[in-house]
Amino acid sequence: MAHNGTTQNGVAEEIPALPFPEPVKVQDIRHTKIFINNEWLTSSSGRTFPTFNPATCVKICDVEEGDKEDVDNAVKAAKAAGQRGSPWRKMDVSSRGKLLHMLADLVERDRVLLATLETLDTGKPFLQSFFIDLDGSIKTLRYYAGWTDKIQGKTMHVDESFMCLTKHEPVGVCGAIIPWNFPLLMFMWKIAPALTCGNTIVIKPAEQTPLTALHVGSLIKEAGFPPGVVNIIPGFGPTAGAAIASHMDIDKVAFTGSTEVGQLIKEAAAKSNLKRVTLELGGKNPCIVFADCDLQMAVEETQRGAFYNQGQCCTAASRVFVEETIYDEFVRRSVENAKKIVMGDPLDPQTTHGPQIDQQQFDKIMDLIESGKNEGARLEYGGAAVGEKSLFIQPTIFSEVKDHMRIAKEEIFGPVQCILSFKSQRKAVERANSTQYGLVSAVFTTSMDKALSVSAALDTGTVWINCYNNLHVQIPFGGCKMSGNGRELGEYALAEYTEVKAMIIKLSETL
Ligand code: ADP
Repeated sequence: MAHNGTTQNGVAEEIPALPFPEPVKVQDIRHTKIFINNEWLTSSSGRTFPTFNPATCVKICDVEEGDKEDVDNAVKAAKAAGQRGSPWRKMDVSSRGKLLHMLADLVERDRVLLATLETLDTGKPFLQSFFIDLDGSIKTLRYYAGWTDKIQGKTMHVDESFMCLTKHEPVGVCGAIIPWNFPLLMFMWKIAPALTCGNTIVIKPAEQTPLTALHVGSLIKEAGFPPGVVNIIPGFGPTAGAAIASHMDIDKVAFTGSTEVGQLIKEAAAKSNLKRVTLELGGKNPCIVFADCDLQMAVEETQRGAFYNQGQCCTAASRVFVEETIYDEFVRRSVENAKKIVMGDPLDPQTTHGPQIDQQQFDKIMDLIESGKNEGARLEYGGAAVGEKSLFIQPTIFSEVKDHMRIAKEEIFGPVQCILSFKSQRKAVERANSTQYGLVSAVFTTSMDKALSVSAALDTGTVWINCYNNLHVQIPFGGCKMSGNGRELGEYALAEYTEVKAMIIKLSETL
């Protein structure tokens, strides 16, 4: 069977024949326990927690609930695995790369199962899991596999009586706390650069979506990583997550999630052992659409940016500023474009839009949609829940959105596109920057000059020009202001996972 699909970059492509997934049965889900030292353990507390399919609200299975004691055990294992003289520490760097490639091979082998598990646990359309999340995960592993033997220091000349050099050493035990919107991809974004640099890891998947991470645990063991190098603790934020953030023997923590929790993590890190912290947090990302743009392309890209993954993206294009002269046409075409979205069973390859992740997120989004209606934005499309007891929300478009409205200020994390209008370029940039967030932004124009001057003035970690959500493993990703600190992906991420040691050697004699 072949399907017409769309890549993340919006390029239509013929998707090769796919083994359409058989529904995964509970008995097929083999990994629901805590993964420490390459072993599967029950929780120290004896507790488990359920994980649900958001498309049906039916429980998929129970998972062992890790807590502080389990985190302690995982940290002990990670510390031992990374200590000097350990097999992992002594491993030659090419072999380290080979292990990462082996893990990529195994993820490729289990691609259908992983994509199916991801769709069951998150509700995201299967083809998006299969192509975008799995593709990104495999590329991340392979990209960083290529870096293991290229982690290099420098030599510095001081004067003839000294030899000075730097060595890039592992930071140590790296904690990672990841969200539910891209569970597998975020797992790879965290473990791949950390392993490349020789660290060991204790990682907690989000409580809503633990299944793909746990399956990858089995692949890590199968690939041949030494015990303790990667440890996975399913569990909740305020318990297992907080234990990671405040642990005295974790040397660095990488977090992706909400700005509020990011603040808690940084506080816990400061109050414990001042561990290094990298944060990838929220966004209220502006797009500036100029009258001279390729209009249809801008409509499609900004809308994909708003609705991709049911709007559950830190990069969601939630404020679209459109130049006044093309505003009405832009809104009209955006509504037309939204009509092509297919809501339905996420496992059906025709489906392009699934449910929100859980009731809490659903309620928050519906509250913001109501606020948009009440504050005077014009509802152009959607704006309602689908069915009685479901987590599906119609893709929603508001026009005539004003900067003071809640939908223009707060991160919605749902399928809501807010379209604002602007007259002056200077004002548009000022309004775009007028937020606590600084993750991504986009500019749509055919003028090179305008694209460059406007993108230079936008206070965000990424600016897309005539495209959206264009993420590549080679390109650094991360935010400024309250969207976070540090960069993931690309060469830049390596600096987050290495400690630079300076060595200064005094020569006994200068000749
Ligand atoms: P979202 O709002 O998107 O659910 P969160 O920031 O709440 O995002 O969650 C992202 C990750 O942070 C999840 O793995 C969650 O369990 C974890 N988390 C939540 N609260 C805390 C906390 N107090 N300390 C550490 N981790 C937490």
